[in-house]
Amino acid sequence: MARYTGPVCRLCRREGTKLYLKGDRCYTNKCAVDKRPYAPGQHGQGRRKLSEYGLQLREKQKVRRIYGINEKQFRRYFAEAERQKGVTGEILMRLLERRLDNVIYRLGFAASRPQARQLVLHGHVRVNGKKVNIPSYLVDLGDEVEIREKSKNLQIFQEAKEAARSVPQWLEVDLDQLKGKVVSFPSMEDLDIPVEAHLIVELYSR
Ligand code: SF4
Repeated sequence: MARYTGPVCRLCRREGTKLYLKGDRCYTNKCAVDKRPYAPGQHGQGRRKLSEYGLQLREKQKVRRIYGINEKQFRRYFAEAERQKGVTGEILMRLLERRLDNVIYRLGFAASRPQARQLVLHGHVRVNGKKVNIPSYLVDLGDEVEIREKSKNLQIFQEAKEAARSVPQWLEVDLDQLKGKVVSFPSMEDLDIPVEAHLIVELYSR
């Protein structure tokens, strides 16, 4: 399925929550979720009581949109989570958090996940000293993630340094050097948007 390239604020309004897809704008009063807190489209303001299936579907779509991945990829993550021992929904979320584009965002090197994805695709990122331009690359314990030397002076990174966003506990950051390290695996508490992962498991178990 093709990647969604339409207006991203519609996605947040559809999910009824901020997905932080636009960087700085998401933290201002220009945010569409704050200005128009109802679903987009002609019937967006109508009453809507979701069925059980509807709730499960919306939760899955929300997570998919947060991380910017398509249905096929998402199914692959789910299959991998099911293979591993433990609570499937939590394993799924922890796998998604370990994506390289998400790590770049979490380290505060990019203002949003879509921007982080671009940075990775354009070759600005090194993992353990080697160029990695695959946004879905899964970081491992001890991995060192860094912006390549040549790119460190780009305006985007100067802005990232000024913004100095907080970083989750599972990552260590040296913002001046634009370097980071994976010091543990992410936990559910590290997610900044509450996710009811069990609803996704229920959806795929239908
Ligand atoms: Fe979502 Fe950000 Fe747009 Fe607000 S500004 S609706 S959080 S993408």
